Amino acid sequence: MLPESPDAVPSPAPLPVAAPPEPRSSVESLYRGLETRLRETRPKEDLAPLERAYRFASERHRGQTRVSGEPYMTHPLLVTRQLVDMNMDMVCLQTGLLHDVVEDTSATLEEVRKEFGDEVARCVDGVTKLSKLDLASREERQAESVRKMLLAMVNDIRVILVKLADRLHNMRTLGSLPQEKRLRIAQETMDIYAPIAHRLGMGKVRSELEDLAFRYLEPEASEGLLREFEAGRPANETFLNTIKHIVEVNLAREGIPARVEIRVKRAYSVFQKLKRQKIILDQVYDLLAVRIITDSVKNCYAALGVIHNEWHPIPGRIKDFIAIPRPNLYQSLHTSVMGPEGRHFEVQIRTDEMHRIAEEGIAAHWKYKEGRRGPADDDRRIAWLRQLVEWQRDMRDSGEFMSTLKVDLYPEEVYCFTPKGRVIALPRGGTPIDFAYAIHSDVGNTCVGAKVNGRIVQLKHALRNGDVVEILTQTGHLPSKDWLGVVKTSRARNKIKHVINTTERVKAIEIGQKYLEREARRLGVQLGRVTKSHLEAVAAEYGCSKMEDLHAALGYGKYSARQVLQKLAPEIVPAELPEPAPAPERPAPRPGDDKDLVVQVKGIDDLMTYRAKCCNPIRGEPIVGYVTRGKGIAVHSVNCSNVQNLMYDSERKIEVEWARAASHTFPVKLLVRTEDRPGMLSQITTALFNEQTNILSLETHGGETDGGAIIDMTLEVKDKRQLERVVSAIRRISGVRDIERVNERT
Ligand code: MN
Repeated sequence: MLPESPDAVPSPAPLPVAAPPEPRSSVESLYRGLETRLRETRPKEDLAPLERAYRFASERHRGQTRVSGEPYMTHPLLVTRQLVDMNMDMVCLQTGLLHDVVEDTSATLEEVRKEFGDEVARCVDGVTKLSKLDLASREERQAESVRKMLLAMVNDIRVILVKLADRLHNMRTLGSLPQEKRLRIAQETMDIYAPIAHRLGMGKVRSELEDLAFRYLEPEASEGLLREFEAGRPANETFLNTIKHIVEVNLAREGIPARVEIRVKRAYSVFQKLKRQKIILDQVYDLLAVRIITDSVKNCYAALGVIHNEWHPIPGRIKDFIAIPRPNLYQSLHTSVMGPEGRHFEVQIRTDEMHRIAEEGIAAHWKYKEGRRGPADDDRRIAWLRQLVEWQRDMRDSGEFMSTLKVDLYPEEVYCFTPKGRVIALPRGGTPIDFAYAIHSDVGNTCVGAKVNGRIVQLKHALRNGDVVEILTQTGHLPSKDWLGVVKTSRARNKIKHVINTTERVKAIEIGQKYLEREARRLGVQLGRVTKSHLEAVAAEYGCSKMEDLHAALGYGKYSARQVLQKLAPEIVPAELPEPAPAPERPAPRPGDDKDLVVQVKGIDDLMTYRAKCCNPIRGEPIVGYVTRGKGIAVHSVNCSNVQNLMYDSERKIEVEWARAASHTFPVKLLVRTEDRPGMLSQITTALFNEQTNILSLETHGGETDGGAIIDMTLEVKDKRQLERVVSAIRRISGVRDIERVNERT
């Protein structure tokens, strides 16, 4: 075992003279240990690069100590020791020694590059960036790092290997940190690092990370379980040794070469299982396990036969991860059987190669090998990594890992960041609107635009992994109905619907009330004279508990105001009056009567239309239709103020266009202010004559206070262009001060 004493008592106060020799020598001896170990396992390797990295790092970390009081340099050395045990290559080992110099000392990345080359510098840079992940309070850095981590994983997996070794050592020495920090680091280990180790197939590292984190995160559960484990240990060991003996005898008889190992399931994975399946310790099928490691796939299946011949398999517990490996490339045959005394246990059967992969995962593919490593090796490693990444992508029903890892490679989600670095997870195709609602419903409601990575995008823009999204808001802005067709999250959809329904109802109430009052005036009903109880009784007849609800229903067009007024004042409003009532003064053309329709509803040609009196649109002006109750479609000018104010219900808005037939003329009323001088009127009529415009009526009023006159006339024009020509002809007459088109006000 290596000297590792996080809780070591601080050494007594050093003597005032010279450097304290004790810590330095402990550092030095750790380094010597590394060398010795390497010389044993890799006699041909040149260790000079390792020594250079060690000298550089210990120089830079000089004088720094860990929280435990040890010299800081013990940390990179023990991280590197882990990498040596994993048999990593020299670049990886140098990175291990140098991994904290850029983050924690005066050394720059450039210096590292100059001294140790591009590869090492790239790896150190990668680890430095991942280290910023630890700064959970600095959201921006965290976000940046999560992204970098992704890239780093695909660029050079050694960054991850060093980071995992780093985290492992930090977890082993976590006890010296304050409680709050301990919890944060343990949580992060559980959430991010253990799943990464798992994904990379590094079973050993993952187990240790999880068990260490578990101890800090669930101290009670962890202790309880461990106590229960301890209590059962002697019985379990006896039981497993008996099984081991029987298995060995049976395999030998069948001529299957094998190594048999026994193990008790780890505390944390038992804990997970108990929690997930709500069972007790005795019901865990794979609490006790026997592992058979043999030489070939053929013998794996043969061994499975031997086991099933001896003990009854438990139905549904046979799993063939050889034929169908797990996403992290784990391969094995699993079965659970009913053993002696009715105790069940799990059997795992695999080849040596499968075993190595299970324990070491991707590290097995990144190991130091004697001699130069050829391009073929690189290709193989990269192919392996690619395959891994591909598998993760294709995996639909993600397992344990996918649900916990909070980075990419998850097919259904994208991860974006707020400018402050908060991670927002959205479904694929999620838009800035979804993002805005994910932050807060107020942000969603007032969202008017978005910047992605600093550039303005459309609100329907599909966000991608790693995008930094800034939402632009405007107070008082309300969501648009169109958003419903764009958003991908139900949260956003529900919030938008809610706001739209609320605001529409407010408008509908207002409209319904006005509609009722107007109809009441028209029909001569004095609403003010109707008692409150009568109003409420009528409202109740419509299933409305409040008058407000009836107003809303009227606004939504569910009932006609006449109908309601008939109930309110039956003596005034006769029930048998034909409905729909035609628009007064200028009756709308009956459907089908008039082939020469002035206005057409787009796509439908037998709907009644009439020009709204408030704006009296003429051919050539942009128009919009509005479905009224019982009076057909009112056609307004797009610029009409009533359109702006009264197009409350967009459901009732309808597209209309001027019909092609051009024989129809429109009456237009103009008000001309002029100087009061003789000949003015004849000049105007001449101008109208020249423009071939008929005059329907003309009146002059003299005696304006400013000594001018007003000419009030109604002309007959074919379209907007004719009107424009007439207006400019009149304007050109000297003495004309002003000309205005007037509409009847409602
Ligand atoms: Mn470190």
